[in-house]
Amino acid sequence: MPHFFKKIFLALFLTLALSIYAACQSSDNSQTEFDTVEIFAMDTVISIKAYGSNAEKALDAAVQEIHRLEKLLSVTEKDSEIYKLNSLKSITASDEVVNLLALSQEISSKTDGAFDISVYPLVSLYGFTKGEYRVPERCELEAALGCVGYEHILIQGDKIEIPDDASVDLGAIAKGYCGDRVAAVLEQNGVSSAVISIGGNVRLLGKKPDADGYSIAIRDPNNTQEYIGSVTVSDCSVVTSGSYQRYFEENGVIYHHIIDPKTGLCADSGLSSVTVICKDGATADALSTAFFVMGQEQAEQYYRNTDEISVILVSDSKEITVIGEVEFAPVESSEYTYSTTK
Ligand code: AMP
Ligand code: MG
Repeated sequence: MPHFFKKIFLALFLTLALSIYAACQSSDNSQTEFDTVEIFAMDTVISIKAYGSNAEKALDAAVQEIHRLEKLLSVTEKDSEIYKLNSLKSITASDEVVNLLALSQEISSKTDGAFDISVYPLVSLYGFTKGEYRVPERCELEAALGCVGYEHILIQGDKIEIPDDASVDLGAIAKGYCGDRVAAVLEQNGVSSAVISIGGNVRLLGKKPDADGYSIAIRDPNNTQEYIGSVTVSDCSVVTSGSYQRYFEENGVIYHHIIDPKTGLCADSGLSSVTVICKDGATADALSTAFFVMGQEQAEQYYRNTDEISVILVSDSKEITVIGEVEFAPVESSEYTYSTTK
């Protein structure tokens, strides 16, 4: 074939291949139209898949909402309300921040302080905020423990006050809240079905088109390339806390990012990961952190007093316990043992 025709042939082939690829991009195996976006924000990768003809415009609005929340809630952004609260110790806050602080305090009280946003001085000592990891001295931990106590956060109308030596961090609840807000914004923009993944925390809007539910895989805490099983769910949040998510190692010891507010040490309750499935993402996020600190027995006890959640606990000894109504399918060849409690 002459060189000129070869070129035309190649160009036609590439055009055809690209059209097929583009078609695959905008329809999954259910042949339903969708759009996706992926950004880095809130210190993690956030990806959103929205179905329907309004998806593109709705995703733009969702991205703006994520940036707005980051500016409002970040512990490191100098203009955020949380940064101002930590530096000024007393602020007039937006309704949104007031509500989030009030919800945090309520969950702290219900979990006997296992979840406590005032744990921030301890988190900073380990260097988790800036990624400058170090093992704190015992005396440093003791001094920082004196600054911790959710009950000292005063909320009076829109006025928030914390003690002079205290500081707060919404890192254990903000991503779940963000999932809820993104779902709301997508819905306001005409999307009724979407998957929002915020650093592995998943918020589902509505039902998956042409399916019973979304299948969400739960990561293996001992091998993060693998999964221990999956849940089939709709219109809810699936949030996991685990020691594998952020940690450093010193002298053969692992120091991870979930701190027991009573001891100042990395939580060591016998659990490797906790997944909470709940309609409200902020609650799911806060509870997954709390249960990780509390351990299996206390998490089960908490569950008995509520019917709004399901929980998947993975113990250090590789036992999976599924609590609640959620449909869980374990991976067949898994080395984990598995039981359910309703
Ligand atoms: P999560 O990944 O939702 O479990 O949240 C963990 C993050 O929340 C950490 O990186 C800290 O910033 C913060 N944190 C650590 N321990 C606690 C705790 N006991 N209560 C509330 N926030 C915590
Ligand atoms: Mg959390």
